[in-house]
Amino acid sequence: MEYNIALVKGDGIGPEIVDSAVAVLEKIGEKYSHTFNFTAYLAGGCAIDETGEPLPKKTVEGCLNSDSVLLGAVGGPKWDTLPGNIRPEKALLGLRAALGLYTNLRPARLYKALSGKCPLRADIVDKGFDLLMVRELTGGIYFGERGRREGKYGAEAYDTEAYSVMEIERIARVAMSAAQKRRGKVISVDKANVLETSRLWRETVHRVAEEYDGVEVKDMLVDNTAMQLVRDPSQFDVLVTTNMFGDILSDEASQITGSIGLLPSASLGDGTRGLYEPIHGSAPDIAGTGKANPIATILSAAMMLRYSFGLITEADDIENAVNDALDAGCRTADIASDDDTPLSCNEMTAEILDRI
Ligand code: NAD
Repeated sequence: MEYNIALVKGDGIGPEIVDSAVAVLEKIGEKYSHTFNFTAYLAGGCAIDETGEPLPKKTVEGCLNSDSVLLGAVGGPKWDTLPGNIRPEKALLGLRAALGLYTNLRPARLYKALSGKCPLRADIVDKGFDLLMVRELTGGIYFGERGRREGKYGAEAYDTEAYSVMEIERIARVAMSAAQKRRGKVISVDKANVLETSRLWRETVHRVAEEYDGVEVKDMLVDNTAMQLVRDPSQFDVLVTTNMFGDILSDEASQITGSIGLLPSASLGDGTRGLYEPIHGSAPDIAGTGKANPIATILSAAMMLRYSFGLITEADDIENAVNDALDAGCRTADIASDDDTPLSCNEMTAEILDRI
């Protein structure tokens, strides 16, 4: 098969880590006889420098014409003082909107080889965990009506949480089909004891669940979920939740894995095209030093194969190669212990390539 992939390398460590993921995709292409055509587009600070805007029209058109998009990271101190409408982050929101991406998938798993990096107690770490957070990305309180007004106690501000049945149904479907491909368990996270949107969320999720064989759905209040994630993360398979709850819980889940440099993400809409990127930023403090960990971006490429192209064996191959490299003791600086000799970004990439 032939696939056209738009590369948005971005700023800071973005170019080095995307180059690593491209090398991995090329190796997969050779091994399984696929052709991946790559076209690079500008977004973020580098686009501001070159064109005066963070998300040039050419980039949006290129991404819309591609089969999927692989992004590094955008932003950095150089552009921090620009006004909000021409900040690098505008590129991310603009791309998500242009591509109609309403689902954010964030897997978080504990690698046995890195269990020493997990901040949780040893008996919890021993059980391991492998969960998938499914976050609604374009609705809820971040997009609801907001404003300032005079209230009973003087000046006040308000933000509104609103969810339609359609928005809940479509994210619930993503969670149910993901669970069917995993261990068949969904926890739907809400605050139904207080919020009306959560009560609609809960009834809609359960109605959608009836369409899916082999999936067990349970509800959990968001405050309890925050506790359970550190008390026993092994109990979770798929979690599905709103934009704001997902924003907070997915960061909590990422922290218990031990390093930000390992975690991939996918943003999806109705079709198969997605936007795949590591969860970390452009790490300007280590850009150009060769210290970046390429694993989160390499695993984002694996998610692209799995979710956009349906290439499950190929995605498994990449994930196994990463696992094997970690088991063999390969470490970049962010995950190294005092007695390890850290590998550079290129050396870690080479170790992973050797295992595909
Ligand atoms: P960051 O994620 O870039 O870095 C936080 C810390 O983690 C730094 O010490 C960094 O060196 C380290 N780190 C991050 N990724 C790493 C990797 N792959 N390997 C090794 N170490 C890694 O967050 P920040 O410093 O708050 O933000 C830096 C810039 O990135 C800012 O301009 C911010 O706006 C931007 N940002 C972009 C995105 C994105 O493009 N999706 C996300 C978050 C932040």
